[in-house]
Amino acid sequence: MSRENKTAIIVGAGPAGLTTAYELLNKTDIKPIIFEMTDDIGGISKTINYKGNRIDIGGHRFFSKSDRVMQWWQNILPLQTALSKNGSDPEKADKVMLIRNRLSRIFFLRKFFNYPVSLNMNTIINLGFIRMLKIGFSYLQIRLFPIKEEKSLEDFFINRFGSELYLTFFKDYTEKVWGVKCNQIKPEWGAQRIKGLSVTKALIHAFRQIFSKDFSLEQKKIETSLIEQFMYPKFGPGQMWETVARMVEKKGGKIFKRHKVTGIKCEGNRITEIKVRDENNNEIKSQTGDYFLSTMPVKELINCFENKIPHDVREIANGLAYRDLITVGLLLKKLKIKNETKIKTFNNLIPDNWIYIQERDVRVGRIQIFNNWSPYMVQNPENVWIGLEYFCNEGSSLWNMPDGDFIKFAINELSKIDIIEKDDVIDSTIIRMKNTYPVYCSTYDRFSVVRSFTDKFENLFLIGRNGMHRYNNQDHSMLSAMIAVENIINEIKTKDNIWNINIEKKKELRV
Ligand SMILES: Cc1cc2nc3c(=O)[nH]c(=O)nc-3n(C[C@H](O)[C@H](O)[C@H](O)COP(=O)(O)OP(=O)(O)OC[C@H]3O[C@@H](n4cnc5c(N)ncnc54)[C@H](O)[C@@H]3O)c2cc1C
Repeated sequence: MSRENKTAIIVGAGPAGLTTAYELLNKTDIKPIIFEMTDDIGGISKTINYKGNRIDIGGHRFFSKSDRVMQWWQNILPLQTALSKNGSDPEKADKVMLIRNRLSRIFFLRKFFNYPVSLNMNTIINLGFIRMLKIGFSYLQIRLFPIKEEKSLEDFFINRFGSELYLTFFKDYTEKVWGVKCNQIKPEWGAQRIKGLSVTKALIHAFRQIFSKDFSLEQKKIETSLIEQFMYPKFGPGQMWETVARMVEKKGGKIFKRHKVTGIKCEGNRITEIKVRDENNNEIKSQTGDYFLSTMPVKELINCFENKIPHDVREIANGLAYRDLITVGLLLKKLKIKNETKIKTFNNLIPDNWIYIQERDVRVGRIQIFNNWSPYMVQNPENVWIGLEYFCNEGSSLWNMPDGDFIKFAINELSKIDIIEKDDVIDSTIIRMKNTYPVYCSTYDRFSVVRSFTDKFENLFLIGRNGMHRYNNQDHSMLSAMIAVENIINEIKTKDNIWNINIEKKKELRV
């Protein structure tokens, strides 16, 4: 079948959509057309420029176990000079990928704990002797008498860490993030995220760190959550995706911003047409195409079908849940909290990229310190530019709070836990982002019904994070796009190879 004069309709200009377009333009004659409902490029991986200070929707590490993805990124933005002969000097060039050290710690009891939690003197002193005894005892107890049938995430955690360690470090944070009690989350969530990281492994890692001084990039064998270095574009992840978008357009691809896909028509086992609403004037347009690649949330995709579709497919899709995120950007003269580590930093700023806020008396879940992601994210390096993350649901009281009130609330929270002084706030901004986390509960256990329905359309490809309702990072989202393009090229009909991405067990304990 000739692929000349064929068109691929892509929903969404996030990493998956842009990778699809880029790959199609480089490997085929198929013309990609992207419809993006917002004004921005990059989806959840965008970077917002607020008065010269750049902020991500959660900091985005560029690291993958896939060499293909690692190389792909470096082809777009070369590594900084010190690490690559052909690289660029970030002081002289903008198109450059920095190598950053990772540090993320847990803030609890107004103290810092290592992440992943390690059994060292610092932990013991911070937690106190009594709590440590309880942790040790309950861990031993569960090793001797494990819960036989894990019915919930709570059982999963307790079986691996013991009840006291679970209550101290996992319960509250997990519930903050997902907004659901751990005993109501399916244990498979834990299996997908955590298998492979145990108390023993954390101990071994701590032990190895003492003896290892080699911080090379060759870390692919190490568990993902223990990676100590990552790549990061000089101006944040948005720079990567804006660069790719420009390349796509230069090569003849089309990107229509503020165009929301609202309808889909099918005939037999093929998608024939989509409806798109131009958000500038509300005009509805039709667009035919040969291939359709969707990165929009599965729930919305299914609701776009204008044909009659099986009742259970619609019901399951409508039951899919998402967690949303509010980010408050604060520009500060300084932090109140001081750097007490041995790591030397500019102005002695704490060295963390982000901090998990475990404290029970505040709603904030994580704090990003953008100076430590890239110093070029901050207009005046003397200032500290941080992002406070609130996991919530669209429509909740937190989500609906007026911007000014929310910012005040966020400032009060940080001052309450002694991270900032209110008087040090210079400026602030707020970003609400829907559908940041596809949730694995509600109707998710029947997701295969939806998948079988969409898989039967031979020219429809579900890719990306919300596109597959999968907890995919950028690299998985990109790989799903790359494989979809290969399937198109090789006329492979099955979608199994796309669904097989990111099903290995992961080791991240926290988002
Ligand atoms: C807090 C946080 C931190 C993260 N950290 C990392 C990290 O460190 N490293 C990493 O690799 N990944 C990270 N990720 C994951 C990363 O953000 C995603 O994997 C990636 O953005 C997914 O790409 P995507 O193209 O599938 O989807 P998205 O980024 O969601 O893009 C989809 C696009 O589709 C558009 N769209 C939706 N519906 C429609 C419609 N009907 N019509 C037209 N357009 C539509 C959206 O506006 C959006 O632009 C993080 C995610 C979060 C939430």
